[in-house]
Amino acid sequence: MREENDFVNVGDINQYLYCPRRFYYICYYNTIEMNFYLKDGQLKHENQSRRGNWIRELYLKSKKLKLHGKIDVLESKNIKSGFIITPIERKRGTSYYNNDEIQLAAYCMLLEDYLDEPVKLGYIYLFGTNERYAITITDWHREKVIETVENIRTMHLESIPGFADNPNKCKKCSTSQYCLPLETKILEGG
Ligand code: SF4
Repeated sequence: MREENDFVNVGDINQYLYCPRRFYYICYYNTIEMNFYLKDGQLKHENQSRRGNWIRELYLKSKKLKLHGKIDVLESKNIKSGFIITPIERKRGTSYYNNDEIQLAAYCMLLEDYLDEPVKLGYIYLFGTNERYAITITDWHREKVIETVENIRTMHLESIPGFADNPNKCKKCSTSQYCLPLETKILEGG
């Protein structure tokens, strides 16, 4: 098991779910490189404007969940009984995927551990559509968070995960030159 894996960073959950093999290279070989998709995503985060009722950058850590992470944006809304705080996860592109929802769920779980009250809703904001999408956090999301945290915490250097479930992911992958999926398949006669 990786020593630093006592606590899992929420961002790593998304990385792992995209492709466990890619995550493995990032963890053990420090091979991540900047490519267009990474740089574009970074710039979009950095250039986001500030608006009212938004809280920026709340760092949370939970011993119970073995999770930590920084929520980029939180929206606070006044209601009769107080106020509701809702995490917003921002993504590039025009669509979001299960791994984005699960990452958002992990932030919601961190927040509810911190507030000691349920957080059942989060938003994914897409730069590509300039829209945000309400995501109801279900038991399925929560179970996936817990399962993925455990998978990450029990990763081993000696055990390289298999290739991505969808080869299209390799086209955008910043570690493909280390993973060499096509070359490996040819060498293995696949
Ligand atoms: S090239 Fe494909 S299989 Fe290899 S790490 Fe990247 S996404 Fe995963």
